[in-house]
Amino acid sequence: MNNSYGDGTRVVHAVDAVPGEPFGAQPVFASVYHLGGQDTYGRTSNPTWRALEAALGSLDGGECVVFPSGMAAISTMLRTLLSTGDTLMLPSDGYYVSRRFTSEMDINVVQVPTAGPYPSFEGVRLVLLESPSNPGLDVCDIATLADAAHAAGALVAVDNTTATPLGQRPLEFGADIVVSSDTKAVAGHSDVQFGHLTAASPDLAASLRDARALSGAIPGPFETWLALRGLGTLDLRLERQAKNAAALYELLSGRVAGLRWPGAAADPAHLLAAQQMRRFNGVLTFELESAEAVEAFLRKSRLVSAATSFGGLHSSADRRAQWGDPVPEGLVRFSAGCEDTRDLVADVSQALGLV
Ligand SMILES: *Cc1c(COP(=O)(O)O)cnc(C)c1O
Repeated sequence: MNNSYGDGTRVVHAVDAVPGEPFGAQPVFASVYHLGGQDTYGRTSNPTWRALEAALGSLDGGECVVFPSGMAAISTMLRTLLSTGDTLMLPSDGYYVSRRFTSEMDINVVQVPTAGPYPSFEGVRLVLLESPSNPGLDVCDIATLADAAHAAGALVAVDNTTATPLGQRPLEFGADIVVSSDTKAVAGHSDVQFGHLTAASPDLAASLRDARALSGAIPGPFETWLALRGLGTLDLRLERQAKNAAALYELLSGRVAGLRWPGAAADPAHLLAAQQMRRFNGVLTFELESAEAVEAFLRKSRLVSAATSFGGLHSSADRRAQWGDPVPEGLVRFSAGCEDTRDLVADVSQALGLV
């Protein structure tokens, strides 16, 4: 794919058209192949994986390895890069399952809030960043942190789930590896778990691919095809979701506490986010007075469902404290979907009693 095309063209033409063949890649379900070609056995390679890996690798700017979920990608990365006694630095306000996984590894874990301040990277083997962080939507300066971490001999990984491959390219800022849960906006239809790692170095990608084949944590061909199909409309969906988030930000400004959306000029993370992100998305957060106020909001809304994910077609809201995130009881992570802006704003407005 020609890298000079825009995002929409790149995702629509993620798989080159071949005369006489169907559009896009088809799911190949084989577990065993007649020997003689490049595929031998389903746990080590699959043509549908290759199609999606080529597309995501091109967007991220590195070599991609796909996984059956975001956590399969993250856990494979951590197990591949870290040995007993190594030190990992990771966000105290990032995805909570990553923290839980590392708490069960035989390593030293240093937790740092995404917005900093960051301690010295001396003695750290891997720095995992998450920007914007989930759920707080704080942002960190990836290029500056990657420079400092590399100077101390550490590797740098960035969880790019919230931003998406179209919204941010951490490898261009010096990160060694990008992690993504494609269960969210990349697949985008709330019907598949998926994840990927993209490494700047082919050697690192090869060890991750090897780890996938050895552990057997492999994505199914059908799920891979669903993720690839979702990717084709990522540009369109992000455009509508960001438009909806901007409209909701305007509606909620001055009327709810703790309103955050890095796309808004008034957001404390906006300047930094605008420097390193290529576009914004549909995820915002705000606080209502209590858990009951969030329940009431969800009960009154006709378009917003309670759901613990984000980036899908449907607008959804998640009260993060119920899952153990260290956040206020009434903090809502809101995922603006692809509904008409007018309908969504009217619905949220009536559900919060703003009209
Ligand atoms: C959801 C999520 C994950 C985990 O992804 P799964 O596909 O659910 O395993 C990792 N990181 C972030 C930031 C996420 O939002």
